[in-house]
Amino acid sequence: VTGGSRGIGAAIARKLASKGADIAIVYSSDDNAASAVCEEIKKDFSVNCRFYRCDVSDFEEAKKTVAAIKNDFGSIYILVNNAGITRDGLSAMMSEEDFRRVIDVNLVGAFNMTRHCIAGFIRQRGGRIINITSISGLMGNAGQANYSASKAGLIGLTKAIARELAPRGITCNAIAPGFILTDMTKDLAQQDEIKSRIPLGSIGSAEDVASAAAYLVEASYVTGEVLRVDGGLAM
Ligand code: NDP
Repeated sequence: VTGGSRGIGAAIARKLASKGADIAIVYSSDDNAASAVCEEIKKDFSVNCRFYRCDVSDFEEAKKTVAAIKNDFGSIYILVNNAGITRDGLSAMMSEEDFRRVIDVNLVGAFNMTRHCIAGFIRQRGGRIINITSISGLMGNAGQANYSASKAGLIGLTKAIARELAPRGITCNAIAPGFILTDMTKDLAQQDEIKSRIPLGSIGSAEDVASAAAYLVEASYVTGEVLRVDGGLAM
């Protein structure tokens, strides 16, 4: 689970562990958070859990990390591409660096991790890839041209990989969360205004997204799908 040290990724890691999966957490900077989540997972669910510091946007670093995980666990069956960042701003003012960095982490990072897992999935004739996109990638969001483009790109990536790997029994799906309460969104000033636009009337939780991920691990006849977990917001 990339970005498994916090927020939605940590909730997905815990959910998959609760179903008996051993967990590898990939994160970029906060060693203490990754270590704490791993300790909790081992204690609460009696599965193996290890953490790996890696910038997923770096092709070679991602390659080494996937190799290290395979070495430690024997194989990988589920890849959750959840690591993501925002660098918001209106397009008229956005720097090239802010545009590229968001694409590099959110989209290229998912490609890198997938690329390095595919050979193993094919060899073992099975696997699950789950990409965490966003309703910003479906609808576009003002002030998030970089983020919306990265998340829309992730939907294209999901469908192309789903078609490539379907003959091998490997599924690839995406989850598009709406507003979920995590570090990424806790500073959003207009939460009441946001809630009033959500048909189900509340901000979502990381656990809501984790349940969808657990479903996509179990679903063997679903591939290339984008599952909205947004309280109906992008309906
Ligand atoms: P958080 O900001 O809470 O956590 C981000 C996670 O990604 C952290 O574990 C962080 O590690 C890791 N990370 C960041 N950059 C990199 C990198 N270059 N390489 C490896 N890991 C990295 O995010 P959320 O839990 O809110 O979001 C998770 C995903 O869900 C993201 O893809 C986001 O776009 C998506 N999403 C979130 C929504 C929301 O409302 N929260 C809505 C729609 C989609 P570290 O802390 O060590 O840097």
